[in-house]
Amino acid sequence: MTIKLTLFLLLLFALSPLINGQSQGDLYKIIDSISEHRIKKDIQTLVNFGTRNTFSDTLSNKRGIGAARRWVKSEFETISKDCNNCLEVFYQKDFITKKGNNRVPHDAWIVNVVAIQKGTSYPNNYIIMSGDIDSRASNTMDFTTDAPGANDNASGLAGTIEAARVLSQYQFENSIVYVGLSGEEQGLFGGAGLARYAKDKKWNIIGVLNNDMIGNIKGVDGVIDNRTFRIFSEPTPPTETDNERQLRRFYGGEVDGISRQLARYIYKTTKLFMPEMNPVMIYRLDRFGRGGHHRPFNDLGFAGIRIMESHENYTQQHQDIRTENGIHYGDIIEHVNFGYAKKLTAVNAINLACLAWAPPAPKQVAIGGIVEPATRLKWTKVESAKGYKIYWRDTTSPTWDYSRYVGDISEFTLNGIVIDNYFFGISAVGENGFESTVTFPNNIMYK
Ligand SMILES: [Zn+2]
Repeated sequence: MTIKLTLFLLLLFALSPLINGQSQGDLYKIIDSISEHRIKKDIQTLVNFGTRNTFSDTLSNKRGIGAARRWVKSEFETISKDCNNCLEVFYQKDFITKKGNNRVPHDAWIVNVVAIQKGTSYPNNYIIMSGDIDSRASNTMDFTTDAPGANDNASGLAGTIEAARVLSQYQFENSIVYVGLSGEEQGLFGGAGLARYAKDKKWNIIGVLNNDMIGNIKGVDGVIDNRTFRIFSEPTPPTETDNERQLRRFYGGEVDGISRQLARYIYKTTKLFMPEMNPVMIYRLDRFGRGGHHRPFNDLGFAGIRIMESHENYTQQHQDIRTENGIHYGDIIEHVNFGYAKKLTAVNAINLACLAWAPPAPKQVAIGGIVEPATRLKWTKVESAKGYKIYWRDTTSPTWDYSRYVGDISEFTLNGIVIDNYFFGISAVGENGFESTVTFPNNIMYK
């Protein structure tokens, strides 16, 4: 009986392709598993659809946004077959009308392709990785001219699909969503649609990692750099109340919103596990005056950041393919560096894994220490945490430079640390060593 049972369990183990990875070593395996070759192949496939303008043809199987999204869906379905149907794949769509939208040439469905890998402990906690299906020509209303969108944004979408391939071989406590969004170029419609969908379904979003242009290493400024990338994050959520804004004057938090904590998390994970890379946090929502698909999530109060190359080339984005005065315009595949896209995909994958293996962040953190030679912290415990880590930093520092692990308790006093001179936060640490994002204090203890 026991032998039979053992054999049965062994067989079950051998048949299951899922690895319940839970160690830092798994992060290196994940990095090594990301395939430059598959990313290149997927970008080529997306480019071959001619144009993926959101308002382009939906009936052809060769050209246009319809063919492109059907291919993305079938790709997610193939990945799901390889992991015992671990992905729930579906279209999430909203109807957009020409009326009232000056960049919409005709009424159309904005269709996102969503693949969800459900978490084992916290299925309603979601980490989202996104790229865009759609592309555009010089004129965003022009939905027939070739718009290969190789870097903008087949690179981000190919990275998202590749991350799904690799991470679907593991199991996670939290859910991971891999999504191809549409309608980015005409008004962030796809992101807005999915953010609303998430809000309606009461998803608890840990963060959105939006990838938009992760394949260009040759800047218009002449710099060639295949190591540096940018993490854009807004300082504080736009949904905060006037009262919360007022309190910041006295207690701090101007650069400590949830999206900023997510940016710091990605910065730190990258430095630790991919030290050859050079992440740069940019303290702003997005590039000057421009937008991306993390914003609609931020608009609804969710944490979200944009991962992007550091040196853009403006002659190779949003441009019809042509040569003018010796300059080759157009977002063609020849300009994409696949090795770099692979690295930025790996940056996403390890951060998705770290967050998906981590316990939830503490919800409430209270801080006190006014006119005291110490800083006191008190927080709400998290069910699956084995302990907590207190972080602090100089007020001018962008990163959490000091920390102290304090075990399974819910309050602690940092003696000799004067509250006035630092910012503080708390993360939860799981049995497996993985850590949540940092929660900035949201309560004051006066005594
Ligand atoms: Zn664009």
